[in-house]
Amino acid sequence: MQDTIYRTFLKWVSSKESSEKFLIMKGVIKKYDKCIYCGGKNLGRIRRDRYKCYSCRREWSPYRGTVFEKFRIDPQKLLIILKLFELEVKPELASKEAEINLKTARKLYRYFREKIFEYIKRKKSMEVLI
Ligand SMILES: [Zn+2]
Repeated sequence: MQDTIYRTFLKWVSSKESSEKFLIMKGVIKKYDKCIYCGGKNLGRIRRDRYKCYSCRREWSPYRGTVFEKFRIDPQKLLIILKLFELEVKPELASKEAEINLKTARKLYRYFREKIFEYIKRKKSMEVLI
């Protein structure tokens, strides 16, 4: 079967790992191959998606400073909600589809709109400079 945008999307969101890979590819979250504290390369992934350095024993989350710090949501669910937002599906339905609560879905929609607005504003201010 030929890949379509939709099928490609389904492949990316089919698991937590592939969703995370997608977010790394898009630069939303970072992939670490070195410890952020000591530079050690002996890292492991532990509970709730944290990295642990086996040299200095410290831990950190690859999600810090990202949308996931603001919203405790799986990468998979975030991608689904984002797609439904793009398709202009109402948050009431989107929350059911992604199996997240309505309050979170609404907050995410607001967050996406804010980000789009910020982006447009930045673009417009660039145009003024040109
Ligand atoms: Zn370390």
